[in-house]
Amino acid sequence: MNSAVASAVLALVVLTAGCSGVGDLQQSGLVGDAEHPLAGETVTVVVDGTPRERAVTAAAAQYWNGAGQQYVEFNVTLDVVAGDGSERDPDVVVTYTESVTDCGDDEFSAGCAPRPNASTGLERPADIEVQRGLSNESTLLVAKHEFGHLLGLRHDDEPQSVMYHERDLWTRDRPNASERALPWDDPALTVAVRNGSLPAEDRVAYRQEVQYALAYFDEGADGAVPSNLSLQFVADPSAADIVVTPVTDSACRDTRGSCSTVQGTDPDEDGAIETYRRVEIETQGVDTDAVSWHVARQLAQAVGVAGDELPAALTTRDPEQRRGQWHG
Ligand SMILES: [Zn+2]
Repeated sequence: MNSAVASAVLALVVLTAGCSGVGDLQQSGLVGDAEHPLAGETVTVVVDGTPRERAVTAAAAQYWNGAGQQYVEFNVTLDVVAGDGSERDPDVVVTYTESVTDCGDDEFSAGCAPRPNASTGLERPADIEVQRGLSNESTLLVAKHEFGHLLGLRHDDEPQSVMYHERDLWTRDRPNASERALPWDDPALTVAVRNGSLPAEDRVAYRQEVQYALAYFDEGADGAVPSNLSLQFVADPSAADIVVTPVTDSACRDTRGSCSTVQGTDPDEDGAIETYRRVEIETQGVDTDAVSWHVARQLAQAVGVAGDELPAALTTRDPEQRRGQWHG
């Protein structure tokens, strides 16, 4: 999923609970001057996740190194390092996962961490799991919470804003198509054809195919696109947002068909382009009368519609349906 279009959210009520096999009973009644196994350490933390997830994890660590330090009974520094940790001996590995399982409780958990104490010690590297797909704010809360357990805190400990175990978390789920933000700054997009490589007698038909695809979006694309979207055909490819080109040697695919190359910006460095600046659509070896179908499918993806959100007209595998008047 492209995070650019994840502007709306969906509530979940879950527990950020779970956590350790270290029970409260074991922890009671300890233990003279023995110390938590991380006391006094600079703890090396590696993140198995995206750059965004690493950045959020680092922010959670910063919390405990700073304002959160007062709630921990010993001095400790959490050091989130780059890389996968294979060249270091990490003390903690934070793994971002589709679902957190087997965390020792029956409830759904968004995170899992050990809660060591002076008597348990800590097996290294310690494993923390965090559910992926949450909003930045919810991811930060879960990461802070699980680090809190790692540092010995329980659900009834301060700070309750972090350690209380029932939370509303928010996902990065996609909004409905009608509410979805486009992955572009502007819903008025221009489309041009660069078909000078074709024989002169084929150029008009190719351009008409592209305009037939645009007509599908003008008619609403079976409700799959935001109503404020407009795609306007223009003559000059150098000034267009989206350019359609027939090629014999595609930069983005090996076989006959179509593909797109997206240029844009990724300000949060999560590996997904947030804002599109230009899309190059290529058709390779496509019969002229199926160009409109291919271009429409690529245009849908260029405006943020993908996967099972594609309208049925654009998912047919029947070559005959892809030719001619595949829409009304
Ligand atoms: Zn917990």
